[in-house]
Amino acid sequence: TVKAQGKNGVRASGEALVEESARRSRLARDLPGAIARGELRMVYQPVAGAEERRVLGVEALVRWDHPELGPVPPEEFIGLAEDDGLIVPLQRWVLATATAEHARLVAGGRDLKLGVNISVRHLQARCLVEDVTRALEGSGLPAHLLMVEVTESVLMDDDERLLAELAELSALGCVVSLDDFGKGYSSLAYLARLPVQVLKMDRGFVSGIDTDPRVAALVGSVVDLGRTLGMDVVAEGVETRAQLEVLTALGCRFLQGWHIGRPVPAADLPARVDGFDPALVGGPEAVAVP
Ligand code: C2E
Ligand code: MG
Ligand code: MG
Ligand code: MG
Repeated sequence: TVKAQGKNGVRASGEALVEESARRSRLARDLPGAIARGELRMVYQPVAGAEERRVLGVEALVRWDHPELGPVPPEEFIGLAEDDGLIVPLQRWVLATATAEHARLVAGGRDLKLGVNISVRHLQARCLVEDVTRALEGSGLPAHLLMVEVTESVLMDDDERLLAELAELSALGCVVSLDDFGKGYSSLAYLARLPVQVLKMDRGFVSGIDTDPRVAALVGSVVDLGRTLGMDVVAEGVETRAQLEVLTALGCRFLQGWHIGRPVPAADLPARVDGFDPALVGGPEAVAVP
C-alpha cells in the first residue's frame, strides 16, 4: 500500500504520491465535521505493573471511522488537525469523552489512571490547563487519576511558558508524562528541568531488547535515568513474553503493549481489567528484586 511504501522509506511511485495526496485532501476536507457527525471514538489500552501484577491504568487513543475510507489511524489525522487549527476542538472532545468514560469505569471503586495524549499545539494555544480543568469538572474524575502525555517535541519549543503550563497541570494534581521518549530529539540536560513524573520509553527501544544486548543495555540505562530523576518508566510496545522478561530483569516496572493487552472500547474494559491474568506480567521469578 501507499502507506507501507512511505513507512519503509521506499520511494513511492508518482501514481502512489498522487493517491496519497488525494487521500490527504479528502481527510482534510472531511475532518472538520467528523466530531459533529459522531465519527470519532476512543479506545483504551491497559498499562500493567510488574510488581503490582495488575492493570494500573489505561491510555486513551482516538479513532476516526470514516464513513467511506474506513478506520483512519491517528497518525494520519492528528497532524492534519494541527495544521488546520482543529486540534484544540478535537482535544477538547477527546478530554471530555475519555474523562467521562473513565469516571464511569472507576465509579465502582477501581483504582486506575487514565492517560490522554496531548498535542504540543494545544499547549501553545494556552488553553490546555483550562480545558483539562473543565473536563475534570464535567466528568467528576479526580485530577490525580489523569495523566497528560506530551511528546518530546515539547522539548524543541524553547518556550518557558510551555513548561510553566505543564507545571500548572502538576499543581492541579495531574500526572504529566513524556511520551515516545528516545524516539527523536532528546536533550538530557533539558529532561532534568521538565516538570514530568513519568517517562514513556518509545517502542523502538523495546523491539530489539531480547535479541540485541546493546539495546538491552540502553534500556537498562533509561530505567536507571528514570530512577535518578525520580520518574517512573513505562515501556511501550511490549509485544512478546521474551521482551517482557528482559524488561523486568532490567527493573522496568510499568508495561504497555499487545502482550499486555490491545486497545479496546470502554465497554470491554471492566472484563479486561478485572479479569487480568497476572501471568501476563511474568511469574514471580521474573520480577526483579529491588
Ligand atoms: P502513542 O501515544 O505512543 O500511543 C501508542 C501507540 O502504539 C498506539 O498507536 C498504540 O495502539 C500502539 N501500540 C500499543 N501497543 C503496541 C505494540 O505492542 N506494538 C505496536 N506495534 N504498537 C503498539 P495509535 O493508537 O495508532 O496511536 C498513534 C499515536 O497517535 C499515539 O502514539 C499518539 O501519539 C497519537 N494519538 C493517539 N490518540 C491521540 C489523541 O487523542 N490526541 C493526540 N494528540 N494524539 C493521539
Ligand atoms: Mg501516548
Ligand atoms: Mg508513545
Ligand atoms: Mg506516538
